[in-house]
Amino acid sequence: MNAAVFLDRDGVVVEDNGVLARASDIRIPSDVPRLLAMLSAAGFPLVVISNQTVVSRGLLTEGDAIALQHAVEAEIATLGGPMFDGFYYCPHHPNATLPAYRIDCDCRKPHPGLLHRAAHDLGLDLKRSVFIGDRMSDVAAGHAAGCRTVLLRSGAHLAPPIEGARVDPSLSPDFACDTLDEAVRWILAHVKHHDRD
Ligand SMILES: [Mg+2]
Ligand SMILES: [Zn+2]
Repeated sequence: MNAAVFLDRDGVVVEDNGVLARASDIRIPSDVPRLLAMLSAAGFPLVVISNQTVVSRGLLTEGDAIALQHAVEAEIATLGGPMFDGFYYCPHHPNATLPAYRIDCDCRKPHPGLLHRAAHDLGLDLKRSVFIGDRMSDVAAGHAAGCRTVLLRSGAHLAPPIEGARVDPSLSPDFACDTLDEAVRWILAHVKHHDRD
């Protein structure tokens, strides 16, 4: 089974400028396509793991959220980056505006449900995989799934915890850094993508 690199979306592969609901608002940091291409070339499947609170709030349908993700991926590809191997999102929220999404699910980060689903679908070895995120709720989800974790200090790590999230205050990431470049170099140095060696 492969080790994968799981990526939070907002603040990691796209700029986090608040609610992302329109393709015209997508901003890809200039080094992201090249850095993702390095991970892909090293053999890591790349899987986006995202809380899509916009769906629970009725701002986007699930179809809209998937279309927006396709727009993100198309823009990264246009800039020379790789394709992603999966997009897993949680549309739920304990206080969702739309009753259909108002549940305490097991997939909203810091819960690890999306990682388990991705591992099952794609045949991934969670123990050898890495999660890169910019909030401690990402680190908690990765840790709960048995992955190694990288905290990208984008600024969101200083924001109040996301609503409904209970993250163990003693938890710390395996590696913390200020740029995706450092995160990718750490992964390439410390994580092997297959288990033949
Ligand atoms: Mg984020
Ligand atoms: Zn969920």
